[in-house]
Amino acid sequence: MAYGFNTRALRVPHDPLTGSVVPPIHQTSTYVQDAVGTLRGGYEYSRVANPTRTALQDQLASLEGAAHAYAFPSGLSATDVLLRAVVRPGGRVLLPDDVYGGTYRLLDKVHAGTGIGYAVVNQRDLDAVAAAVAQAPAGSALWLETPTNPMMRVADIAAIAELAAGHGVAVLVDSTMASPYLQQPLALGATAVLHSSTKYLAGHSDVLGGVVATNDDALAEQLGFLANAVGAAPGPMDAWLISRGVKTLGVRMDRHCANARAVAQMLLDHPRVEQVHYLGLPDDPGHELAARQMRDFGGMVSFRPAGGAQAAANVAKSTELFTLAESLGGVESLLCVPAQMTHASAQGTELAPPDDLVRLSVGIEDADDLLADLDRALG
Ligand SMILES: *Cc1c(COP(=O)(O)O)cnc(C)c1O
Repeated sequence: MAYGFNTRALRVPHDPLTGSVVPPIHQTSTYVQDAVGTLRGGYEYSRVANPTRTALQDQLASLEGAAHAYAFPSGLSATDVLLRAVVRPGGRVLLPDDVYGGTYRLLDKVHAGTGIGYAVVNQRDLDAVAAAVAQAPAGSALWLETPTNPMMRVADIAAIAELAAGHGVAVLVDSTMASPYLQQPLALGATAVLHSSTKYLAGHSDVLGGVVATNDDALAEQLGFLANAVGAAPGPMDAWLISRGVKTLGVRMDRHCANARAVAQMLLDHPRVEQVHYLGLPDDPGHELAARQMRDFGGMVSFRPAGGAQAAANVAKSTELFTLAESLGGVESLLCVPAQMTHASAQGTELAPPDDLVRLSVGIEDADDLLADLDRALG
């Protein structure tokens, strides 16, 4: 019988030589060969493979229920390699109408120059997805981000995967906001799942990383080839830090979710708040689907304070526990104004978030302290 999620998160191989319980940080670029081409354990050069990275990849594959996982130096580097592996010149990437700014910039400013197009589709409308998939040229892909950042929209992975399968369109899911603990896209039919490991996987705001996991053997081979060919190799220290973070993913996520629920409810009841986006609120448009597709509703909340962009800026500089900074998914609470920060590259496009939106990455502090901090900042 397969072990449960938290047990698997902790299962890392002991070092066979010394018995070191935690896999060591193999801080080396190269490996001795016993004769020309006679490698020990298959290791020849750390761009190709490194044992600390291999241990992390096995740990992550197990959490996604995947046959293969590849670790990358950042989420965007993982995105770049995944797009290169799947999308062909002439093909197009079907993006959701709320997407991580860096993903948009990569397609708009980098891949567009290589003959890869993109189009924006409302992925909450399955008829619109079906029409876009039917018209998609060969070598296209659906890019799902669910839940989205920062508008907390959800896409129905299983329904979309079924629509796409008939047309041979790959379904790629950026599952960063959910983490593997809350959502399992491969089990729902996705071709590949991607995370910025910088966020919940590592969980401590101290390292960058990315991962792609898949059950498609041919795609996996292509990912491994490209990662080496373009040099998208994470360092061993970074891989080790992410591996350590992953061990506590489940307990951290439970607390992130509980605190976010409390924060969302408090904001909903607050007279100086106009709108709250949190999937756990029964009135949220994504609530029902999220309840079906996810284990819990996540640690991210966004809201619009009364008073527009100026009020958002005031809140952003007035909190003490919510630190004004980009990124999310760390143990400490962070706050940002996406329109001017994480999503600045989408400014002036249909993907731009509202300029008065405040995004919270709710940490694992004591909930009462977080509620009081926000209440004070809202004035
Ligand atoms: C942060 C983020 C990325 C990019 O990851 P990096 O590790 O910063 O390169 C991609 N997608 C989402 C949803 C993110 O939040």
